[in-house]
Amino acid sequence: MKSKSVKPRLAACAAFAALLTAAFFATESGAQPNSVKKIADGVWFREGDMKQGHSNNTIIEMKDYLIVVDANFPSGARLALADAKKLSPKPVKYVFITHHHGDHDYGSAVWTSNGATTFAYKAVVDELNRYEPARWREAAKSRKDVAELNRDTPEYPKETFDKSPYILKDSTREVQFLFFGWAHTRGDGFAWLPKERVLATGDASTNGPYNNTADANLGNWPKVMEAAEKLHPQFVLPGHGPSGGPEILTGQASFMVELRKAAQQAADRGKKLEDIVTMKDGKPVATAIVLPASAQHWVGNSLPTQVMNAYSEVTQKKPAGDVPHQ
Ligand SMILES: [Zn+2]
Repeated sequence: MKSKSVKPRLAACAAFAALLTAAFFATESGAQPNSVKKIADGVWFREGDMKQGHSNNTIIEMKDYLIVVDANFPSGARLALADAKKLSPKPVKYVFITHHHGDHDYGSAVWTSNGATTFAYKAVVDELNRYEPARWREAAKSRKDVAELNRDTPEYPKETFDKSPYILKDSTREVQFLFFGWAHTRGDGFAWLPKERVLATGDASTNGPYNNTADANLGNWPKVMEAAEKLHPQFVLPGHGPSGGPEILTGQASFMVELRKAAQQAADRGKKLEDIVTMKDGKPVATAIVLPASAQHWVGNSLPTQVMNAYSEVTQKKPAGDVPHQ
């Protein structure tokens, strides 16, 4: 009798504990927005909620402080900061901005007002100079969290580095900040933990149909992925979508190869943009291009825009990011 009454209670306790754990620590491989997953001792991956436009974050514990990868949007920054406080009493000292896009950068002022120093590869500042404050002002029209910061332009990284790797190191850990060239943006930075073999990529790699190719160099993107693969990471933490292994890098590279190849073949056959991309209200809404099965994990609603960018790149013979934006 006793064991009968105890067992269900234990089971209920275990179920409750599992529920609590699942709420904060994701253990499954599928998408888990707002979850935090331990990757290695003192290294956590926070999956952003894409319904709110958030990016992923990586939280790295050093001896006396924390490093966070990506500033996120302001609302995402607050969520990531709250989770960092749950994980460790140490302060967030550094926030590494992987690139200039709002979902990785616009929360910068949230972090610095909480005592952190933001930093980035120097080309991120060049990108901000190139595209801002127009994009900030546009974002502030639709995003309350951006508008509420009452700024006219993004807060720039407080520090930059121009030689890769830039290294932060103490007695417990080494973190390298790397630049491999122009892929997603001209400033793509990576955070690499050589001992733990953890690579945080920003949007240079995404795990799923989340690629934004507007500022990209599609032709060079696979080369950047190859350089990242040479590190032989065990864990790859993408800018969007769940964490995984090096298959994210190889898959991302092959998606870019197939996308560009399909655009090139269409151009070679004399197809015009309107033959392969359907526009509505000035925006690409459908495409006749079908990518092979191996690339389907990266194919989603953005494919018509990606095809348009790829077609621009191959026909104008310059990176998509250098083609004037439509
Ligand atoms: Zn991006």
